[in-house]
Amino acid sequence: MDCLEAHDFLMNTVVEQKIFKESSHEVYKKAVDEVKRLENMMSFFIDTSEVSQLNKLSGKGKVHISPEVMYVLKMAYKFSKMTQRAFDITLAPVIDLWRRSGQLSRIPDKRELSKLLKLVGYKQIKIDDANGMAGLARQGGAVDLGGIAKGYAADACIELYKSMNVKSAFVNFGGNVKTLGKKPDGNDWVIGIQHPHKQRGKKFGVVLVSNKSVVTSGAYERYFVVNGKRYHHILDCRTGWPSDSDLESVTVICENSTQADALSTAAFVMGLEKAMEIIDKFDETDAVLVTKDKKIYLTKGIKNNFYLTESSSEYSCYALA
Ligand code: ADP
Ligand code: MG
Repeated sequence: MDCLEAHDFLMNTVVEQKIFKESSHEVYKKAVDEVKRLENMMSFFIDTSEVSQLNKLSGKGKVHISPEVMYVLKMAYKFSKMTQRAFDITLAPVIDLWRRSGQLSRIPDKRELSKLLKLVGYKQIKIDDANGMAGLARQGGAVDLGGIAKGYAADACIELYKSMNVKSAFVNFGGNVKTLGKKPDGNDWVIGIQHPHKQRGKKFGVVLVSNKSVVTSGAYERYFVVNGKRYHHILDCRTGWPSDSDLESVTVICENSTQADALSTAAFVMGLEKAMEIIDKFDETDAVLVTKDKKIYLTKGIKNNFYLTESSSEYSCYALA
């Protein structure tokens, strides 16, 4: 069996694909096109994307939204509501301010931050499902699907593989993994979880899965430094500042990668206790929660399929009931 392994820079991250099939090049090319297509629809940075159209018309009216973007928008709305805004896709104006500040190696101006924070709130998203339209109530309000779109793209890649008769595959959007089937040798996939304090690629632990998505959110993924202090890219909507919970990273394991992506971001912001509560609400959804005081909490469904690597001996594991 051929194995095609490829890396492409898409959706602002490295997308790694492993496809097991005879003549898998065609599948790979189609997957790249598919991701580009989704990026063109969902990117905050592409002027012609549906998200940009929606943002441009904020406070003024509704725009046409395709069924795929509508699905992601509705999922995002659901998770914003369920997580009591630990996840909020209308955080875009504040995210954008942090991004601009980071490029200048500055922290944002406090007054500007609190002004922009007033534009945030998922309830302003008005969805007209019957006509396939959506709008934002507040002028200057904006949506950023950065915390959920990679999950959707991973789901879309797996659907594409299936439709092209692939039985075994792996796709990774910079820490947002989804697997199809088992490895060709019949074993589960071994998915590494990035070590929060070690160089990129250094595994902290592994989980064994098949037909599942494994998504990690952590403070180490994207950040900048001012006066020796780190400012990372996952923000707390309540304050507008990088979230500062007791968690160092969260890995969510479930079938739907869109769900896993939103939940991992939300759980990271919520902190250990609330994160455990929310994960418990979802069927067949597991998590590996790593706290700043070097403890690892494993939910029931993953405790027998998680292994710590040697480089993580300072951590201790706890299985949740
Ligand atoms: P990564 O981009 O590292 O895979 P995540 O899936 O955790 O990480 O999403 C982080 C991205 O989501 C940020 O870059 C930003 O665009 C957006 N974001 C940051 N904080 C929040 C939040 N509280 N709610 C929703 N989206 C957020
Ligand atoms: Mg996410």
